[in-house]
Amino acid sequence: MRATFPHLLHLDIALGILYPTLGIEIVPPPPITQKTIEIGVKLAPQNACFPLKVTLGNFIEAIEKGADTIFMVGGVGPCRFGYYGQMQRLIIEDLGYKVRFVLLDHPRYGIRPFLDALRTMAGGRISLPRIIKAVRLSWGVLRFTEELEAQRRALRCQVENPQNLDQVIDQTLEALRSVASLEELEALKKRAAEEIASLPRNGRKDFLRVGIVGEVYIAQETRVNFNVERLLGDLGVYVHNSVSTVEYILHTLRPITRSKEKIEAWKLAKPYLKRFVGGEGIDSVGSAIRYAREGFDGVVHLYPFTCMPEIVAKGVLQAVSRDFDLPILHLAIDEHSGEAGLVTRVEAFVDVLERRRWERKRRLEHDGAFPWR
Ligand code: SF4
Repeated sequence: MRATFPHLLHLDIALGILYPTLGIEIVPPPPITQKTIEIGVKLAPQNACFPLKVTLGNFIEAIEKGADTIFMVGGVGPCRFGYYGQMQRLIIEDLGYKVRFVLLDHPRYGIRPFLDALRTMAGGRISLPRIIKAVRLSWGVLRFTEELEAQRRALRCQVENPQNLDQVIDQTLEALRSVASLEELEALKKRAAEEIASLPRNGRKDFLRVGIVGEVYIAQETRVNFNVERLLGDLGVYVHNSVSTVEYILHTLRPITRSKEKIEAWKLAKPYLKRFVGGEGIDSVGSAIRYAREGFDGVVHLYPFTCMPEIVAKGVLQAVSRDFDLPILHLAIDEHSGEAGLVTRVEAFVDVLERRRWERKRRLEHDGAFPWR
């Protein structure tokens, strides 16, 4: 078996550790490029979700590199994720490729198919201790990739030279690919923490703070969202992203594994959105409210054009923006999006946030100078 899977930021690093440990040879798709997007757009129905098109492009490129098995997760809920995998399977079969499509659907759609798919993905007759060891290591690696990206977002506006920060993080991500044990992972974490701590700081304390909310794929995959996080960071903004693959997996396995942040976000969203609308619709609303309460200056809402849950969330977020006096920039991304237009919108958004902050500061100083008014 030569298995492949879709890209989602650094998921390939974790799966690149998991599968070989289980004895499965993997053929990761080449990094996402314009060509990947063009392949997916050409083959998928025009109105399919943009992430379906990009991941379809991943599969075709991996098949052309020699993959003969595709691992894909199924979706739940009222949106189109429920038939993503099936649609991709039919398209690939129609093209005449002889590949096996292993779809891991949620157990609520049948425990037997779920266990069968899990068994195939776990490499058949592998001992339980070996599976546990492999899962623990790759899970730790996935978490660490997210911690590194969180540091990149938070520190970009605080270090003297952001290129040095990128260099440390990119080298650590590369080194993670060959980690073979939890001890090695801990050593790498320690080394990265020391290197990041030693980077000279620029001394700025008054940076704007922006939170990112949105659909799980577009809000994270920097190769399709024009790396909005980096753009904000280069404009001197502290960025926090509420969307994470680790959280997504834990949330899918709920109720026991749901994190405190997720539970809180869903509670906060309740007055605005009472029902599950699919995808990350509720999370987008709840996380935006959390950012408002924590004093963030603004929120960027990233989602695929035509994404049903996020279109619902967008409507609700307008009320959140009004009630919490929170500026929200909605960015819908698809194959027609252009970088220049997006950069202009983000720059204009940051200008607005700076202006608001300056006015608030001026009002405070004014009140301080004339306390009797
Ligand atoms: S969450 Fe949005 S983009 Fe993802 S499958 Fe559902 S409708 Fe499509």
